[in-house]
Amino acid sequence: MQKPEVMVLATRNTHKIREMQDVLADTGIQLKSSLDFAELQDVVEDGDTLQANALKKARYTFQATGMPSLADDTGLEVEALGGAPGVYSARYAGENATYVQNVERLLYDLDRHERRQFQTVSRRARFRTVIALAGPQGEQLFEGICEGQILREERGEGGFGYDPVFMPLGYRQSFAEMPAAQKNEISHRGRALQELKAYFDALHRMHKNR
Ligand code: IMP
Repeated sequence: MQKPEVMVLATRNTHKIREMQDVLADTGIQLKSSLDFAELQDVVEDGDTLQANALKKARYTFQATGMPSLADDTGLEVEALGGAPGVYSARYAGENATYVQNVERLLYDLDRHERRQFQTVSRRARFRTVIALAGPQGEQLFEGICEGQILREERGEGGFGYDPVFMPLGYRQSFAEMPAAQKNEISHRGRALQELKAYFDALHRMHKNR
């Protein structure tokens, strides 16, 4: 088994593509994305877990393009909401919800929960990303977690999704306020990609020592 020469990032989300390209830039792998293949269909993310959805996207893209494919599925797990929205993060405010609607629903639900408890509740949360690699040499899963908290209001213009209301532990800026390179260094997606890179490095060492 060896590091691939070309890999398809199995997403049309330009934010995810940019983040993955940035982190993988030093691997020497030629990176394509689903945007380069007009014939690819949208994959329905109907799995019960991030793993299932990531594998479904990676497998489909590998089968359709014949190239090793990498898919990411991400969830935001909020402690006070029992881990919600989790695997349902993309449609928390309903099918086809916008980023803004999802963030509003999250702030509303946390606020309502707090009022019901008659006291401030924990705003602890974590982002979890599962990355699946599917290729001729089989399948691999990688995971990255970033701990943090949900802010009371949106802050910052960068990033995407829940970034304006997520502040990573040990930092004073939301993901949307920090430079992209800093988010990539500590984020769930960045960490899952570091795991992938470590895997490729190990493959490379094994191959060299043969
Ligand atoms: P999915 O992995 O595209 O299914 O993402 C699930 C939901 O989490 C979507 O609403 C995304 O906008 C959001 N999301 C995914 N990754 C991030 C991130 O890095 N920051 C903020 N929100 C994210």
